[in-house]
Amino acid sequence: MGSRDGLITAALMLVAGSVAAQEPLTTRCESAPIAGLFKVFGDTGRMPPDLGRFLQSAALQKVEPYKAFDNVHYVGICWVSAWLITSPTGHVLIDTLYGPYTEPMLDNIRKLGFDPKDIKQVVITHGHFDHAGGAAKLKELLPGARFAMTAEGWREAAESGAQSASRPDRWTMIERDMVLADQQVLQVGGVKLQVFETPGHTMGTVSFAFDAFDGGKRHRAFTVGGLGLNAIKGPEQVEAFIASVKRIRALTEQKDDPVTTHLTTHPFSNGLTETKELLKTRKPGEPHPLVDPQGFRQQLDALQAGAEKHLVTERSKKTN
Ligand SMILES: [Zn+2]
Repeated sequence: MGSRDGLITAALMLVAGSVAAQEPLTTRCESAPIAGLFKVFGDTGRMPPDLGRFLQSAALQKVEPYKAFDNVHYVGICWVSAWLITSPTGHVLIDTLYGPYTEPMLDNIRKLGFDPKDIKQVVITHGHFDHAGGAAKLKELLPGARFAMTAEGWREAAESGAQSASRPDRWTMIERDMVLADQQVLQVGGVKLQVFETPGHTMGTVSFAFDAFDGGKRHRAFTVGGLGLNAIKGPEQVEAFIASVKRIRALTEQKDDPVTTHLTTHPFSNGLTETKELLKTRKPGEPHPLVDPQGFRQQLDALQAGAEKHLVTERSKKTN
Protein backbone atom coordinates (compact mmCIF):
# COMPACT_ATOMS: atom_id res chain seq x y z
CA MET A 1 0.00 0.00 0.00
CA GLY A 2 2.84 2.35 0.90
CA SER A 3 4.57 2.05 -2.47
CA ARG A 4 1.31 2.44 -4.29
CA ASP A 5 0.57 5.64 -2.37
CA GLY A 6 4.06 6.82 -3.27
CA LEU A 7 3.38 6.21 -6.95
CA ILE A 8 0.11 8.09 -6.76
CA THR A 9 1.82 11.00 -5.06
CA ALA A 10 4.54 11.03 -7.74
CA ALA A 11 1.91 10.95 -10.48
CA LEU A 12 0.00 13.80 -8.86
CA MET A 13 3.17 15.84 -8.61
CA LEU A 14 3.85 15.28 -12.30
CA VAL A 15 0.32 16.37 -13.14
CA ALA A 16 0.64 19.41 -10.89
CA GLY A 17 3.98 20.29 -12.49
CA SER A 18 2.68 20.10 -16.04
CA VAL A 19 -0.43 22.09 -15.22
CA ALA A 20 1.58 24.67 -13.31
CA ALA A 21 3.69 25.30 -16.41
CA GLN A 22 0.65 26.30 -18.47
CA GLU A 23 -1.59 27.90 -15.92
CA PRO A 24 -2.54 31.50 -16.60
CA LEU A 25 -1.12 34.10 -14.27
CA THR A 26 -3.92 35.59 -12.23
CA THR A 27 -3.36 39.30 -12.24
CA ARG A 28 -6.96 40.44 -12.08
CA CYS A 29 -10.17 39.46 -10.40
CA GLU A 30 -11.75 37.25 -13.07
CA SER A 31 -13.65 34.03 -12.71
CA ALA A 32 -12.20 31.58 -15.24
CA PRO A 33 -8.50 31.58 -14.26
CA ILE A 34 -9.37 31.60 -10.56
CA ALA A 35 -11.75 28.67 -10.96
CA GLY A 36 -9.03 26.90 -12.98
CA LEU A 37 -6.42 27.39 -10.27
CA PHE A 38 -8.82 26.16 -7.58
CA LYS A 39 -9.49 23.09 -9.69
CA VAL A 40 -5.77 22.35 -9.85
CA PHE A 41 -5.57 22.83 -6.09
CA GLY A 42 -8.55 20.52 -5.54
CA ASP A 43 -7.28 17.84 -7.91
CA THR A 44 -3.69 17.79 -6.67
CA GLY A 45 -3.90 19.00 -3.08
CA ARG A 46 -1.09 21.41 -3.91
CA MET A 47 -1.58 25.16 -3.91
CA PRO A 48 -0.52 26.55 -7.29
CA PRO A 49 1.91 29.44 -6.57
CA ASP A 50 -0.21 31.86 -8.61
CA LEU A 51 -3.22 31.03 -6.48
CA GLY A 52 -1.24 31.61 -3.28
CA ARG A 53 -0.11 35.01 -4.53
CA PHE A 54 -3.60 35.92 -5.63
CA LEU A 55 -5.19 34.99 -2.28
CA GLN A 56 -2.66 37.05 -0.35
CA SER A 57 -2.79 40.18 -2.44
CA ALA A 58 -5.06 42.78 -0.86
CA ALA A 59 -4.88 44.75 -4.12
CA LEU A 60 -6.13 41.80 -6.20
CA GLN A 61 -8.78 40.96 -3.61
CA LYS A 62 -10.29 44.42 -3.54
CA VAL A 63 -13.78 44.61 -5.03
CA GLU A 64 -15.84 47.80 -5.03
CA PRO A 65 -18.94 47.08 -2.94
CA TYR A 66 -22.14 47.23 -4.94
CA LYS A 67 -25.89 47.10 -4.70
CA ALA A 68 -27.01 43.83 -6.26
CA PHE A 69 -30.71 44.34 -5.43
CA ASP A 70 -32.53 47.14 -3.63
CA ASN A 71 -32.00 45.30 -0.32
CA VAL A 72 -28.97 43.09 -1.09
CA HIS A 73 -25.42 44.39 -1.26
CA TYR A 74 -22.08 42.79 -2.05
CA VAL A 75 -19.44 43.74 0.50
CA GLY A 76 -16.96 40.88 0.04
CA ILE A 77 -13.61 40.44 -1.69
CA CYS A 78 -12.69 38.87 -5.02
CA TRP A 79 -12.62 35.23 -4.00
CA VAL A 80 -15.07 35.16 -1.06
CA SER A 81 -18.44 36.83 -0.74
CA ALA A 82 -20.06 38.69 2.08
CA TRP A 83 -23.66 39.75 1.52
CA LEU A 84 -25.47 42.47 3.41
CA ILE A 85 -29.25 42.18 3.39
CA THR A 86 -30.72 45.45 4.57
CA SER A 87 -33.97 46.64 6.05
CA PRO A 88 -34.99 49.91 7.71
CA THR A 89 -35.13 48.07 11.03
CA GLY A 90 -31.84 46.16 10.93
CA HIS A 91 -29.49 44.29 8.62
CA VAL A 92 -28.24 40.73 8.24
CA LEU A 93 -24.69 39.92 7.15
CA ILE A 94 -23.92 36.58 5.51
CA ASP A 95 -20.34 35.51 6.34
CA THR A 96 -17.50 37.37 7.99
CA LEU A 97 -14.50 37.20 5.61
CA TYR A 98 -11.24 36.82 7.55
CA GLY A 99 -7.94 38.29 8.69
CA PRO A 100 -7.05 41.51 6.88
CA TYR A 101 -10.35 41.61 5.00
CA THR A 102 -12.93 41.85 7.79
CA GLU A 103 -12.44 45.47 8.88
CA PRO A 104 -12.34 46.80 5.29
CA MET A 105 -15.68 45.00 4.79
CA LEU A 106 -17.19 47.40 7.34
CA ASP A 107 -15.79 50.29 5.28
CA ASN A 108 -17.52 48.76 2.26
CA ILE A 109 -20.76 48.80 4.21
CA ARG A 110 -20.31 52.48 5.15
CA LYS A 111 -19.43 53.31 1.56
CA LEU A 112 -22.82 51.98 0.50
CA GLY A 113 -24.48 54.30 3.01
CA PHE A 114 -25.19 51.85 5.83
CA ASP A 115 -24.04 51.86 9.43
CA PRO A 116 -22.41 48.56 10.46
CA LYS A 117 -23.93 49.11 13.90
CA ASP A 118 -27.33 48.38 12.34
CA ILE A 119 -26.23 44.79 11.63
CA LYS A 120 -28.34 42.82 14.06
CA GLN A 121 -27.44 39.37 12.87
CA VAL A 122 -24.40 37.72 11.34
CA VAL A 123 -25.08 34.31 9.83
CA ILE A 124 -22.13 32.09 8.94
CA THR A 125 -22.43 29.45 6.23
CA HIS A 126 -19.78 27.07 7.60
CA GLY A 127 -16.70 26.74 9.76
CA HIS A 128 -13.88 27.41 7.29
CA PHE A 129 -11.64 30.43 7.85
CA ASP A 130 -12.73 32.36 4.76
CA HIS A 131 -16.35 32.50 5.99
CA ALA A 132 -16.00 32.36 9.80
CA GLY A 133 -12.48 33.72 10.40
CA GLY A 134 -13.67 37.31 10.93
CA ALA A 135 -16.28 36.46 13.57
CA ALA A 136 -14.07 37.46 16.52
CA LYS A 137 -13.21 40.82 14.96
CA LEU A 138 -16.85 41.49 14.13
CA LYS A 139 -18.00 40.57 17.62
CA GLU A 140 -15.57 43.12 19.01
CA LEU A 141 -16.61 45.84 16.55
CA LEU A 142 -20.35 45.07 16.53
CA PRO A 143 -21.20 44.25 20.13
CA GLY A 144 -24.93 44.43 19.38
CA ALA A 145 -24.93 41.73 16.72
CA ARG A 146 -25.89 38.08 17.24
CA PHE A 147 -24.00 35.33 15.44
CA ALA A 148 -25.61 32.18 14.09
CA MET A 149 -24.47 28.86 12.62
CA THR A 150 -25.70 25.28 12.76
CA ALA A 151 -24.62 23.29 15.83
CA GLU A 152 -22.19 21.31 13.67
CA GLY A 153 -21.03 24.56 12.07
CA TRP A 154 -20.08 25.95 15.50
CA ARG A 155 -18.21 22.75 16.27
CA GLU A 156 -16.29 22.71 13.00
CA ALA A 157 -15.44 26.41 13.23
CA ALA A 158 -13.98 25.92 16.73
CA GLU A 159 -12.02 22.90 15.47
CA SER A 160 -10.82 24.67 12.35
CA GLY A 161 -9.67 27.70 14.38
CA ALA A 162 -7.89 25.47 16.89
CA GLN A 163 -6.11 23.62 14.07
CA SER A 164 -4.72 26.92 12.79
CA ALA A 165 -3.01 27.71 16.13
CA SER A 166 0.54 27.05 14.92
CA ARG A 167 0.15 28.73 11.54
CA PRO A 168 0.86 32.38 10.70
CA ASP A 169 -2.75 32.78 9.54
CA ARG A 170 -4.14 31.48 12.83
CA TRP A 171 -7.58 32.51 13.97
CA THR A 172 -9.89 31.74 16.85
CA MET A 173 -13.60 31.23 16.77
CA ILE A 174 -16.02 33.00 19.09
CA GLU A 175 -18.10 31.15 21.67
CA ARG A 176 -21.22 29.52 20.31
CA ASP A 177 -24.10 32.00 20.08
CA MET A 178 -27.32 31.22 18.18
CA VAL A 179 -27.87 27.78 16.67
CA LEU A 180 -29.66 27.45 13.35
CA ALA A 181 -31.90 24.53 12.45
CA ASP A 182 -33.27 23.30 9.16
CA GLN A 183 -36.43 25.04 7.91
CA GLN A 184 -36.21 27.70 10.58
CA VAL A 185 -37.25 31.16 9.44
CA LEU A 186 -35.03 33.78 10.96
CA GLN A 187 -36.71 37.16 11.22
CA VAL A 188 -34.37 40.06 11.90
CA GLY A 189 -35.80 43.55 11.57
CA GLY A 190 -37.42 43.49 8.15
CA VAL A 191 -35.24 40.65 6.86
CA LYS A 192 -36.53 37.10 6.68
CA LEU A 193 -34.10 34.24 6.04
CA GLN A 194 -35.18 30.68 5.48
CA VAL A 195 -32.60 28.23 6.76
CA PHE A 196 -31.57 25.05 4.93
CA GLU A 197 -29.09 22.67 6.43
CA THR A 198 -27.08 21.55 3.40
CA PRO A 199 -24.33 19.23 4.62
CA GLY A 200 -21.63 18.27 2.13
CA HIS A 201 -18.95 20.91 1.68
CA THR A 202 -18.70 20.51 5.44
CA MET A 203 -21.25 18.63 7.49
CA GLY A 204 -22.29 21.85 9.25
CA THR A 205 -22.88 23.89 6.12
CA VAL A 206 -26.03 25.98 6.02
CA SER A 207 -27.71 27.78 3.10
CA PHE A 208 -30.26 30.59 3.03
CA ALA A 209 -33.24 31.64 0.95
CA PHE A 210 -34.46 35.22 1.09
CA ASP A 211 -36.27 37.88 -0.90
CA ALA A 212 -34.33 40.23 -3.14
CA PHE A 213 -36.23 43.26 -4.41
CA ASP A 214 -35.66 44.98 -7.72
CA GLY A 215 -37.90 47.99 -8.16
CA GLY A 216 -41.36 46.65 -7.57
CA LYS A 217 -40.30 43.08 -8.28
CA ARG A 218 -39.54 40.40 -5.73
CA HIS A 219 -37.11 37.59 -6.54
CA ARG A 220 -36.32 34.51 -4.48
CA ALA A 221 -32.58 34.47 -3.86
CA PHE A 222 -30.46 31.68 -2.44
CA THR A 223 -26.98 31.50 -0.99
CA VAL A 224 -25.49 28.02 -1.21
CA GLY A 225 -23.36 27.72 1.92
CA GLY A 226 -20.58 25.56 0.46
CA LEU A 227 -19.75 24.76 -3.14
CA GLY A 228 -16.55 22.76 -3.32
CA LEU A 229 -15.50 19.21 -2.57
CA ASN A 230 -12.14 20.33 -1.24
CA ALA A 231 -12.68 19.20 2.36
CA ILE A 232 -14.19 15.76 1.85
CA LYS A 233 -13.48 13.16 4.51
CA GLY A 234 -15.28 10.13 3.10
CA PRO A 235 -18.06 8.82 0.85
CA GLU A 236 -20.85 9.65 3.32
CA GLN A 237 -19.94 13.31 3.05
CA VAL A 238 -20.03 13.20 -0.76
CA GLU A 239 -23.42 11.47 -0.58
CA ALA A 240 -24.65 14.26 1.72
CA PHE A 241 -23.30 16.84 -0.75
CA ILE A 242 -25.21 15.24 -3.63
CA ALA A 243 -28.43 15.10 -1.59
CA SER A 244 -28.06 18.78 -0.66
CA VAL A 245 -27.44 19.81 -4.27
CA LYS A 246 -30.55 17.89 -5.37
CA ARG A 247 -32.59 19.51 -2.63
CA ILE A 248 -31.47 23.00 -3.69
CA ARG A 249 -32.17 22.18 -7.34
CA ALA A 250 -35.72 21.21 -6.41
CA LEU A 251 -36.19 24.67 -4.90
CA THR A 252 -35.49 26.18 -8.33
CA GLU A 253 -38.21 24.01 -9.87
CA GLN A 254 -40.97 24.22 -7.30
CA LYS A 255 -44.22 25.83 -8.47
CA ASP A 256 -44.68 27.94 -5.39
CA ASP A 257 -42.13 30.75 -5.20
CA PRO A 258 -39.15 29.08 -6.89
CA VAL A 259 -35.59 30.19 -6.26
CA THR A 260 -34.34 32.09 -9.31
CA THR A 261 -31.18 33.82 -8.15
CA HIS A 262 -27.93 32.40 -6.81
CA LEU A 263 -26.07 34.84 -4.61
CA THR A 264 -22.94 32.78 -4.30
CA THR A 265 -20.39 32.49 -1.49
CA HIS A 266 -17.56 32.52 -4.07
CA PRO A 267 -17.95 34.94 -7.01
CA PHE A 268 -15.72 32.95 -9.40
CA SER A 269 -17.96 29.90 -8.95
CA ASN A 270 -20.70 31.18 -11.24
CA GLY A 271 -19.17 34.17 -12.97
CA LEU A 272 -20.74 36.70 -10.59
CA THR A 273 -17.54 38.74 -10.97
CA GLU A 274 -18.37 39.34 -14.62
CA THR A 275 -22.20 39.26 -14.47
CA LYS A 276 -22.37 41.99 -11.85
CA GLU A 277 -20.66 44.36 -14.34
CA LEU A 278 -23.88 44.22 -16.38
CA LEU A 279 -25.64 46.03 -13.54
CA LYS A 280 -23.70 49.17 -14.44
CA THR A 281 -25.09 49.41 -17.96
CA ARG A 282 -28.52 47.97 -17.34
CA LYS A 283 -31.35 50.17 -18.61
CA PRO A 284 -34.72 50.63 -16.92
CA GLY A 285 -37.05 47.76 -17.69
CA GLU A 286 -34.27 45.35 -18.66
CA PRO A 287 -34.19 42.00 -16.86
CA HIS A 288 -31.98 41.71 -13.79
CA PRO A 289 -28.73 39.98 -14.83
CA LEU A 290 -28.41 38.04 -11.57
CA VAL A 291 -31.88 36.49 -11.89
CA ASP A 292 -30.93 33.34 -13.81
CA PRO A 293 -32.66 30.12 -12.73
CA GLN A 294 -31.29 28.26 -15.75
CA GLY A 295 -27.72 29.26 -14.93
CA PHE A 296 -28.22 28.26 -11.30
CA ARG A 297 -29.52 24.84 -12.32
CA GLN A 298 -26.56 24.36 -14.67
CA GLN A 299 -24.18 25.17 -11.85
CA LEU A 300 -25.94 22.71 -9.53
CA ASP A 301 -25.89 20.02 -12.24
CA ALA A 302 -22.15 20.53 -12.70
CA LEU A 303 -21.63 20.29 -8.94
CA GLN A 304 -23.63 17.09 -8.85
CA ALA A 305 -21.76 15.52 -11.78
CA GLY A 306 -18.42 16.39 -10.17
CA ALA A 307 -19.56 14.94 -6.85
CA GLU A 308 -20.74 11.72 -8.47
CA LYS A 309 -17.29 11.22 -10.00
CA HIS A 310 -15.73 12.00 -6.66
CA LEU A 311 -17.98 9.48 -4.97
CA VAL A 312 -16.57 6.65 -7.08
CA THR A 313 -13.04 7.60 -5.94
CA GLU A 314 -14.05 7.92 -2.29
CA ARG A 315 -15.84 4.57 -2.32
CA SER A 316 -12.87 2.80 -3.91
CA LYS A 317 -10.59 4.29 -1.23
CA LYS A 318 -12.82 2.79 1.41
CA THR A 319 -12.87 -0.72 -0.04
CA ASN A 320 -9.07 -0.79 -0.61
ZN1 LIG B 1 -15.31 26.14 2.90
